[in-house]
Amino acid sequence: MHVTGLEGRPGSAGASPSAGGFGGPSEAPHGLEIRDLEVAYGGLTALAGVTLRVEPGEFVALVGANGAGKSTLLRSITGLVRPRAGLVRWRDEDLGALSADRVVERGIAMVPEGRKLFPQMTVEENLELGAYGDRARVDRRARLEGMYAIFPRLAERRGQLAGWLSGGEQQMVASARAMMTRPSLLMLDEPSLGLAPQMMTLIFGLLGQIHRAGTTLLLVEQNVHAALAMASRAYILESGWVVGAGPAEALLHDPSVRRAYLGPLAGLP
Ligand code: ATP
Repeated sequence: MHVTGLEGRPGSAGASPSAGGFGGPSEAPHGLEIRDLEVAYGGLTALAGVTLRVEPGEFVALVGANGAGKSTLLRSITGLVRPRAGLVRWRDEDLGALSADRVVERGIAMVPEGRKLFPQMTVEENLELGAYGDRARVDRRARLEGMYAIFPRLAERRGQLAGWLSGGEQQMVASARAMMTRPSLLMLDEPSLGLAPQMMTLIFGLLGQIHRAGTTLLLVEQNVHAALAMASRAYILESGWVVGAGPAEALLHDPSVRRAYLGPLAGLP
């Protein structure tokens, strides 16, 4: 597939800043920079040379088919996976040598695919687990109340075991737990997975609220239509390569994107 802003693949047209590439030294970004990132699991190449960036305050979506390497990219940023080559920088600091908890302390939090809650612990205990590190411990109580203000359903269920919650409520707990670390950049891996449409709408609405309140978002989503409708910019990953990048709205209306990811029933104008 070939779409506007193609970058990353050998022989591609290269990257313009607006399409997600890097500018010259005078316009060095201070958000997240990923350059030529390669990750392999044994003999399997999951990321073949990915270059992208997320600027402070942006809402960026990362979409692509199953197995494209989206989760691997997030795990590389958080230090859970060690790249074979390439660079991950956040606010001009190389994250490559940092452990996962140091990455959290730098202000990056991830909501993992499948939520990964402790089902036998209460909602509040799960949230408190998010408040580790100096950033969060300082004002844990105030932070909790802040989360209950954003997610009122969790306030009502604070004493309930997380395992008894609905999928959407569990997604709220996972998101709130990540927010307890006071992140500047929140990354979410497939938050809509397994949710009913109504709950999906609610979760995406809450993400919009979190973004408007000042948190930078990087969203990995299998629901390409919803992700492109919400984000300001997006990248399309295919077999470990970035095959498309640009303003989300332009991608949403790009015929090749619609053919490949949205299908004939997308119902777009
Ligand atoms: P999905 O939406 O299905 O989660 P994805 O785009 O997030 O897909 P990844 O989970 O990053 O893709 O997987 C990229 C490739 O790496 C796939 O071929 C996958 O099978 C492989 N892979 C992922 N994790 C591992 C692992 N721990 N060990 C071996 N191979 C892995």
